[in-house]
Amino acid sequence: MNIDDLPIRDELRGQSPYGAPQLDVPVQLNTNENPYPLPEPLVARIAERVAEAARHLNRYPDRDAVELREGLADYLTRTTGHAVTRTQVWAANGSNEVLQQLLQTFGGPGRTALGFEPSYSMHALISRGTGTGWISGPRNEDFTVDLDAAVAAIAEVRPNVVFVCSPNNPTGTAVAADTVLALYEAAQAARPSLVIVDEAYVEFSHRASLLPLIEGRPNLVVTRTMSKAFGAAGLRLGYLAADPAVVDAVQLVRLPYHLSAVTQATALACLEHTDTLLGYVEQLKAERDRLVDALRGLGLSVTDSDANFIQFGRFADTHAVWQAILDRGVLVRDNGVPGWLRVTAGTPAENDAFLDAVRLSLPSPA
Ligand code: PMP
Repeated sequence: MNIDDLPIRDELRGQSPYGAPQLDVPVQLNTNENPYPLPEPLVARIAERVAEAARHLNRYPDRDAVELREGLADYLTRTTGHAVTRTQVWAANGSNEVLQQLLQTFGGPGRTALGFEPSYSMHALISRGTGTGWISGPRNEDFTVDLDAAVAAIAEVRPNVVFVCSPNNPTGTAVAADTVLALYEAAQAARPSLVIVDEAYVEFSHRASLLPLIEGRPNLVVTRTMSKAFGAAGLRLGYLAADPAVVDAVQLVRLPYHLSAVTQATALACLEHTDTLLGYVEQLKAERDRLVDALRGLGLSVTDSDANFIQFGRFADTHAVWQAILDRGVLVRDNGVPGWLRVTAGTPAENDAFLDAVRLSLPSPA
């Protein structure tokens, strides 16, 4: 018996699941996680908050996650300088679930979503999973968004949802505010459609957040996560900021009590320690920049990075280089972009191990 013998939906036949390898190797720099464990005082605070939540686990959690959304709105206001209120914020189990709720609300059968690839593979997978048609738009050679081609694609396809990933995974490329505005205008003229700006990595960027653009643009949504900058990938907490009407709209599809009381308590504890966690972000940015310089110093091509990861290449046999680095105990990511690999910035020691592995793995000049 295999999947094809089951009466699954036709559009899922032949598809592959999301599958970053989870291998047991000493240095894991393949899934853009934060290498720093949560600091002990925060671990203690989580235990305290979760204990308090446990006393009420006989009851369903706050379905509207009011206190948490308040905390997330404060965080956004403080870090972007743009005032955001709780009514503009919605949270779910990872930004993947936020994206899924948005696709369930604004996509679906008979509708299409457009993204500019290479980009985060889950945008296409979540679209397909929600019955939304997926259309792959182009990028320039340097992986920036090809604005003319993008605007033309929007006019032609008239998608219901447009994905803009900034900084973009797996390339690290940030998108300028002007570009997002032009895409938004094109998307409104064509339909109007929902424009999702995925800012999972924005805390690592040289550029300011695009969040202020939501003002006066009810069809623009910014998604965020605590998986990267907050170093809490295991928590599963993502969120969005948008017009309050968007928050009202996703209520139509969210499962009741989707965000457990334990999750809400843990995320609130993390928010209390924002400053410490953002201190690690500064260290990671410096390490990212060091890796960029070192890889360029080795004669490799490196895409400018605004994220906590770096795309480097170009390799004639990408898989062979990936394997050679792995054989030296360092796991990086082959995202299927021909000629390129991606490495996540780790601790200084992990990054040194990675650079040593790369030096030993480069094909010798012919
Ligand atoms: N968006 C982007 C661009 C990502 O790279 C990721 C995680 N790799 C996510 C969203 C989802 O993150 P999470 O569900 O952990 O919030």
